[in-house]
Order: sequence, then C-alpha cells, then structure tokens
Amino acid sequence: MPELPEVETVVRGLAPDLIGRKVVSVWTDWPRALDGSEPHLMESALDGRPLQRIFRRAKYICLDFGGIYVVVHLRMTGRLYLSPNRSGDDRWVHVSLGLDDDRYLAFSDSRKFGRVSLCDSLDFLERKLGPEPLEMSDDAFSNLFRGSTRAIKTFLLDQSKIAGIGNIYADEALLRAGIHPLTPVDRIPHNRARRLGQTIREVLDAAINYEGASISWYRKPDGSQGESQKHFWAYGRTHQPCKVCGTTIERIVVGQRSTHFCPKCQKKPR
Ligand SMILES: [Zn+2]
Repeated sequence: MPELPEVETVVRGLAPDLIGRKVVSVWTDWPRALDGSEPHLMESALDGRPLQRIFRRAKYICLDFGGIYVVVHLRMTGRLYLSPNRSGDDRWVHVSLGLDDDRYLAFSDSRKFGRVSLCDSLDFLERKLGPEPLEMSDDAFSNLFRGSTRAIKTFLLDQSKIAGIGNIYADEALLRAGIHPLTPVDRIPHNRARRLGQTIREVLDAAINYEGASISWYRKPDGSQGESQKHFWAYGRTHQPCKVCGTTIERIVVGQRSTHFCPKCQKKPR
C-alpha cells in the first residue's frame, strides 16, 4: 500500500501539470469509487473552478478547487496519472477527470478499494488523523508515546496517532532505531522515543528522495518506478542478513501485519 513517501511523490509529480487546470468532465465505470457522489454532481460542483493547490495529508491526495475538494485515497492498488485519453494507460482505470487542456486525470485501481471523493471541507480528515510525522519534533514523538501500553509497531500504524506511516516504513524505522516491534510504547525510555522520532523522519525523508517504493502496484505519475525498495533494511528481507550486524532478519506477525526485524539489533522486551 502506498504510504506517506509514495503519496507525496505522486503529489509532487502531478502538481506542475495540474495547478490551474479545470475539470470539464467526470467519467466512471465503478460508481462506488466516487464514494457516494455521482459524475454529474462532481462535474457541476467543479465547474469553472481552477485547481488552486494539490497537497498530501497522511496518505490522502487533496485537490483544492477553491474550497471544493477532490480527495483521492489510493488504498492498495490505486494509481493517479495524467493521460491523453480517458481510458488511461492500463485496463484498471475506473475514474477519469477530463481537464481543460484535453488531458485526463486517470485513477486506476485493480483492487477497487481506492476512492475519489468530492467534499466541501477537509474536517473529516482532521477528525480521524493524527499529526504529520515530518512536522513533529523529537519531544512531540516522546509525548505521544506516553501512557500507551500497545506494541510500538501497532501504535505506529494507528493513523489517529501518527498519520502516513504504514507497514513498510514502520519496520524500517524500528530496525534503524533498534526497537523491537513488540515493545510496549510506555516502556520506551524518553531518549529512545526521541531517537525513534528522528529515525522516522529520516526514513520518510529518504524514501521521498528515492521517490517511493515500487514493490507492487505503486508507480510515479510518469509511470516509472520509485527506488526506495532498493534501500530497505527490514521490509521484505526475511532470511537475509541484517545490514547492521549480519544476523538473519526474522518475520513475525504483529496486529495481523507482517513484521520484519533483526533479533540482535532489536532486543525483545523482557
Ligand atoms: Zn542487526
């Protein structure tokens, strides 16, 4: 699933071509993807409004048409890209927004879990999302971890606590910070918690610089692959040697999520 770095890469890739564009038509062959709206309602709501901003909040892509928003959630297999034709470049395009420069913003989604939602406010996102990790100080991380007894891996995936981190970058940050994924959050000492916050920011920043991880469906808007997967220390490296100490990376399941860690670098809490 695309996480913060992948979604950020999509936003940065689309922004130069999309800012100032108007939506002149809306097409779908999978109405559920429009999350309760309908093509003609979306068309009339967006009519004549140039796109003012495109930005990311957590794993959501927000298109701001001047107080009317289209919010895209890629979920598992979603892709968003510009195409010269309505049907896009692959056979999974289920929503297509026709633009006033005769191009289309195509939303492709083979698994059909993604959504393209019209809304007049982003309050619904703010109500359910925690802060952005790249905007948090080390102390903010440490404060956030206070008072929770949940496993740190599960906590990091809770979007209402910290927004945008998923399975990949949680595993990467925990190995680099030397914290076992099952460690109860309130057992992480203050200084280690600050260090974990710093590590999370470093891991996410690096992944943005590598333009995301193309391990399954994720592609940049120009169709090319990100490079982040070439720099993983933990994720998907079961049975391979730890890049820090050479110990074999192990895989366990935490909160129903596949979790990769080094048993030497990340000591299990007693
Ligand atoms: Zn190790």
